[in-house]
Amino acid sequence: MRTFHQIAELRAHIRAARDEGSTIGFVPTMGALHEGHLSLIRRSVTDCDRTVVSIFVNPAQFGPQEDFAQYPRDLARDSKLCQEEGIDALFVPSAEDMYPPDADTWIDVPGLSSSLEGAIRPGHFRGVATVCAKLFNIVQPHRAYFGQKDYQQLLVIQRMVADLNLPVTIVPSPTVREPDGLAMSSRNAYLDPEARKAALVLSRALMSAQAMYEAGTRSAHTLRDALRSVIGEEHAAELDYAEIAHPRTLEPLEYIEDGAVALAAIRVAGTRLIDNVLLGVGLNHQPRRAG
Ligand code: AMP
Repeated sequence: MRTFHQIAELRAHIRAARDEGSTIGFVPTMGALHEGHLSLIRRSVTDCDRTVVSIFVNPAQFGPQEDFAQYPRDLARDSKLCQEEGIDALFVPSAEDMYPPDADTWIDVPGLSSSLEGAIRPGHFRGVATVCAKLFNIVQPHRAYFGQKDYQQLLVIQRMVADLNLPVTIVPSPTVREPDGLAMSSRNAYLDPEARKAALVLSRALMSAQAMYEAGTRSAHTLRDALRSVIGEEHAAELDYAEIAHPRTLEPLEYIEDGAVALAAIRVAGTRLIDNVLLGVGLNHQPRRAG
């Protein structure tokens, strides 16, 4: 595994690999790697000749009051984990190289970015879309791997890739959870044992909505109310949103015909946590029809 800090050096390395006919898989991350990230990396290593992982805590996707400064960073540990997975290149650019002072171009996917996470974190998806477009142009991967954990982000990236004809295939991958159900997240490191316990309400609420869906409930109102009432029982958790939405447009649903996504976000002891489950659809967004 080689580690690159310079854009031009990574480009030259990848150009040579592509000239040899290698397929390039890419896993963009913000580091503090956990099993969720590693599941994406393993898929890429299995599917592609060479895997590039980027670690970049992207300032453009954090709001002024958010946790950019505190976000966990441990390059030595991340680097060792990547090496153990057999990746080809680790890309760790600097903020100065990614965003020179005169940079003035942004990518906005307004329809999918305005609700849910986007409503609470204005500008967040503009930062995500812009950094992903830049990373795709730098790495030029054949395939890029994204987690379902950040469902709205996945849709934003898929929309951007389609709209801008970017020559990369986006591969969605299921959410990896702790044994008790908590979705793995770099931000779980902020939780003390008490908050960690309270945080479980998020996956518990989503799983109960999923069980109701599987038992035949199709009223999105009923499922939304169930999500909110389970979360409401945990006094240490503050609800940001809980929604039953169309799995491709994210529009709130009244009645589920062709599947849905249940999404929720909470704050526990100052830490924001998000999670989601799919109801009656697979991650490739093809509605599963009865009969
Ligand atoms: P991040 O480092 O949080 O920006 O995440 C980098 C990538 O890992 C994104 O595609 C995330 O959706 C994905 N990811 C984060 N947590 C998980 C998880 N628990 N399971 C699967 N993928 C995840």
